[in-house]
Amino acid sequence: MDFHCIEALLDLPEVRVIAQVLGPKQLELHLERRENTIVCPRCQTCCSRVKERRPRCLRDLPILEHPTVLWLHLRRFACPACHHRPWEESETFGKCTKWTERLYNQVRSEFLRGCPGKELARRYGLSEHTVFRWTFERSRGGRPRKLGRVIGIDEYARRKGHRYNTLIVDVDKGKPIATLQGRRADDVVAWFRSRPQAERDQVKVVVADRSKPYAAAIQEVFGDQVQVIDHFHVVQQAVEALDAVLRAVKNQLDQGEAKELKKLRKRWLKSSDQLNVDELIARYEWCRRFPELRATLNWVQALRKWFNRTYEKPAREALVQLIEQASQSAQAALQRIAGTLTRWFEPIVRYIRNRYTNGITEGFNNKIKLIQRMAYGLRNEHNRQKRILAWCGAP
Ligand SMILES: [Zn+2]
Repeated sequence: MDFHCIEALLDLPEVRVIAQVLGPKQLELHLERRENTIVCPRCQTCCSRVKERRPRCLRDLPILEHPTVLWLHLRRFACPACHHRPWEESETFGKCTKWTERLYNQVRSEFLRGCPGKELARRYGLSEHTVFRWTFERSRGGRPRKLGRVIGIDEYARRKGHRYNTLIVDVDKGKPIATLQGRRADDVVAWFRSRPQAERDQVKVVVADRSKPYAAAIQEVFGDQVQVIDHFHVVQQAVEALDAVLRAVKNQLDQGEAKELKKLRKRWLKSSDQLNVDELIARYEWCRRFPELRATLNWVQALRKWFNRTYEKPAREALVQLIEQASQSAQAALQRIAGTLTRWFEPIVRYIRNRYTNGITEGFNNKIKLIQRMAYGLRNEHNRQKRILAWCGAP
C-alpha cells in the first residue's frame, strides 16, 4: 500500500508510515524510522540486524479532522562486532513524551485564545484534564518564582488609564517572577519585603524605565548601587526632542517641502555609512539650511553612540559633556532632556558596566495584553498571575 499522501500530511521526514487504521474515534498510524541501520555507540560499527521491536504511542495533531495516534515502532539492533544491542532513537520525538511538541503547543495556544477546553479535548482526542494541565503546568500554581541576579521591573495596565499592575521579570532566565497589584513605591517595597532576605541579597542589578516610584522603591529595598536605566527609554526621549525640532522647522516651510522633510525623518538617525549618496546630500542640505536641526541631530547621534562605550570613567566624563551641551542649547526640548540625564545620571552610567535592557519585560507586556484580552479582562488576580507565569517566557 502506498502511504505517500498520508506521509505528506503527517510532515515528519524522519519516519515512514507502515500501516494505518481508521477507527470510529481516531486514526492510528504505524511508523518506522526511514533509516534501516544505526551506528553502534560502543564500537562505531554499522548495525543492520534487527533483534526486537517495541512500539511507542504518541498523540499528534489531527489529520483531516481525525484525532491521531502515532505508533512508533522502535527497533533494537544487534551489533556484529561487540555484541552490544543498541536501541534506535528518534530525533523528532523526545525520549519519554507521550505526545508531540506541535500538539502540545497547538492546544496551549488555542486554549489561551479562548477556545473552550471541552471542544479542544474532543478535537484532539485528549481528556479535558489534560488540556487544562498542559495549559497551566508551567504556572507553578501562581506562586512567584525566586528572585534572580538581574531583574527587570515594569508596569502594565489592568484597565488602561485606570488600574496598573507591576511585573517583575528575571532578565537572565527570561521568565516572569511575579506580578502584583499597583505601581506605587510602597506596593513594590511591600512585595519585595515579603520575599526572604536571602533572595533579596542575590539581586545585583535592577533594570527599570525612568519611573520615579520604581526608582524610589528600588533605592529603599536594594540601596543605591543596583539600579540601571534601560537605555531605550533615554534614547527615545532624545528622539522625541529631535522630532520637536523637526516640527518647528516644518512650520516654517511650505507644504511640498514639509512633505519631503517628513519622508527623510526615518533616515535622520542612521549613521552616514547606512545612507546612499542622495540621502546623505539631502540630509547635509537640510542641516545647512537649519543650524538648529544640525545641532540637535548631532547631539542625539552622540548620545546614541555614548551607549556603545566600554569603559566607565571616560563614559562618565563624556556624559557630563553631553549634558552641558544640551543645557546650553537654545532648544527647550534639549534642555529638558539635559534635566532628565542629570537626574538619572548614576543609573544611566551603570548601564556601561551592566549592559542589561528591559526589552524582555516590554515583550512580556505585549503578551500580557494578549492574555487579558483573550480572557476578557481577568478579574481574579490569582488567575492572572497563573496565566502570566504559564505563558510568558521560555519553557
Ligand atoms: Zn558494537
